[in-house]
Amino acid sequence: MDTADVQGDLEDILLTPEQISTRIAEIAREIESDLEGETPLLVGVLRGAVMVMADLSRELRLPLEMDWMAVSSYGNDHKSSGVVKILKDLDTAMEGRHVLIVEDIVDSGLTLSWLLENFRSRGAQSLRVMTLLRKPDAMTVDVPLDYVGFDIPNKFVVGYGLDYANRYRSLTSVAVLKPEVYGGNPPE
Ligand code: 5GP
Ligand code: MG
Ligand code: MG
Repeated sequence: MDTADVQGDLEDILLTPEQISTRIAEIAREIESDLEGETPLLVGVLRGAVMVMADLSRELRLPLEMDWMAVSSYGNDHKSSGVVKILKDLDTAMEGRHVLIVEDIVDSGLTLSWLLENFRSRGAQSLRVMTLLRKPDAMTVDVPLDYVGFDIPNKFVVGYGLDYANRYRSLTSVAVLKPEVYGGNPPE
């Protein structure tokens, strides 16, 4: 969906499709050199990571496999608690694999630290994380990010997989949502 369709809901376009694809290509080159000769297992975290997974996987000049996880965070409306429930687990065994977690955005980092802790016990040969977006709060928790697309301001963004109330995911840009669309505190 083009931004023109929801122009009135958006405050600012943060990242254009061109900026996103250029950065994803750069990151793909890094991943190729880090995982040369391997067949990594890319794990996308549903649902926000669908777009970045689709673009990154097609950009990578490596044989690879893809799998998906769905998690939900028990928290209040505005902050994740770090307690995570697995809604859909992997269908692929991780043992001995080079695993790359693919995320849309890391905010507090709590969801990801839980996921990493969970994954560490599953016997992967290596575990890496790629996130398209990182917010400033993520810097304060100790969650190792191997590949970061963009550092963005602490504003609620939508598009390129990211939603508000399950909408705006199909926008080709990443944009700041006007606060009056959600009213009050930024949603999760
Ligand atoms: P955290 O890193 O705080 O545990 O949580 C990350 C999750 O919060 C993301 O997967 C996403 O669902 C949600 N989130 C955080 N910031 C934003 C944002 O700016 N926009 C959208 N759409 N979701 C966000
Ligand atoms: Mg996510
Ligand atoms: Mg969401």
